[in-house]
Amino acid sequence: MVSMPTLPLEGASPAHICPFDQACSYLEAAAKELRLDQGTLEILSHPRKVVTVSIPVKLDNGDIRVLAGHRVQHSDILGPYKGGTRYHPAVTLREVSALAMLMTWKCALLGIPYGGAKGGIAIDPENYSVGELERITRRYTSELIKDIGPSVDIPAPDVGTSAREMAWMMDTYSMNVGHSVPGVVTGKPISIGGSRGREMATGRGVMIIVREALADMGRTLEGVRVVIQGFGNVGGAAAELLYQAGAKILAVSTGAGGVFAPDGLDIPALKAYAAENHRRIVGFPQAVSISNADLLTLPCDVLIPAALENQITEENVDQIQAQIVAEAANGPVTLEANRVLEARGVTVLPDILANAGGVVVSYLEWVQGLSYLFWDEERVNREMEHLMVQAYHQVIKQSQLRQVPLRLAAYTLGVGRVAQAWSDRGLYP
Ligand code: NAD
Repeated sequence: MVSMPTLPLEGASPAHICPFDQACSYLEAAAKELRLDQGTLEILSHPRKVVTVSIPVKLDNGDIRVLAGHRVQHSDILGPYKGGTRYHPAVTLREVSALAMLMTWKCALLGIPYGGAKGGIAIDPENYSVGELERITRRYTSELIKDIGPSVDIPAPDVGTSAREMAWMMDTYSMNVGHSVPGVVTGKPISIGGSRGREMATGRGVMIIVREALADMGRTLEGVRVVIQGFGNVGGAAAELLYQAGAKILAVSTGAGGVFAPDGLDIPALKAYAAENHRRIVGFPQAVSISNADLLTLPCDVLIPAALENQITEENVDQIQAQIVAEAANGPVTLEANRVLEARGVTVLPDILANAGGVVVSYLEWVQGLSYLFWDEERVNREMEHLMVQAYHQVIKQSQLRQVPLRLAAYTLGVGRVAQAWSDRGLYP
């Protein structure tokens, strides 16, 4: 057993499902399969840098509140750190550390020259005005000014953040260094160097991986019954693209509840309804309401958890009826639940593969920005699809070669590449 890094400021994560311990367990399994030595495992299980900053913010009513902001940089052995910025009340340093580690394996698996990082602030953005969110984002960015940069660490959107926050981060960084630096973030608006196709990229990647998995079962997306938890950046885009490809989206949800239509939801109409109702979907006229708990256990071909971690657990795994679980969110299936699903022969498409479309197009955005040459959406989608399909087939091949489930296969590829880089570079000094 590897000694776990001590992470201060532990917060709200339930003690029995610690995301960082889970991430380390998957790493250990991969290390065992790869027969990595203990020293390499020790290195890989520790984030290289953990930063926590205070963010004093003046609220609209004149009060001052001090928030804690985190940025965890797991590994830059393959290139600059890369990872999202999360605004959600459940953010803790251990969660951010787990997500940073996942990013390292994801980038390595996809063959893109980045290391893993993640950032977050434990706030519910719904409780803050746009002006307050801007002040929070700008102060958070300026506190991290020495730790981020286009060749150092490149933030992107995650839960609770979007192109808007990336524009504020890019502007704050640029103002501090005295010139425009679009490459400091990805997922930014197209007007300031964002990439075409980025907004839909993670959902598009999910659609591609599900399509490939179905093809291996001799099926197409046409008529496939899909259930999606989460209707944000990722779940919303996946729903739209799967719908366009002929899949039947039976149910989708947000944190405030879900909607279900046994013959399939009209996703464009639902998106329009959500846009008119402050992202609420409950009350959509052509469907009935469903709780998040009931949604997860609906009979379907493909279940796509696209919200948060730890949604499929020991408590509900026995009721999961899907044949394929595509992890659009990071860590939505707990370690124990994953064992049960794999033992039952359910195909679990692991997060580091299934939701990698976002970081792939972030990488393409960074490449376009560095070369001052911007592509049309068709080219972005084509390049992304190539990398996703290639990674999918590498994972399938590895799974067959080593006789291991897809998650362990994906981890052995990602972890193995990072371990190889350590071995080639050597340990400094
Ligand atoms: P988002 O904030 O845009 O959307 C999250 C969605 O989940 C919202 O619809 C929200 O209402 C819903 N939700 C929140 N709590 C919920 C709950 N308890 N039950 C059901 N639904 C709930 O976030 P996002 O960017 O779509 O990210 C979703 C997941 O995908 C996260 O795990 C994130 O780390 C992962 N991810 C995102 C990207 C990206 O490009 N945005 C890339 C890779 C992975």
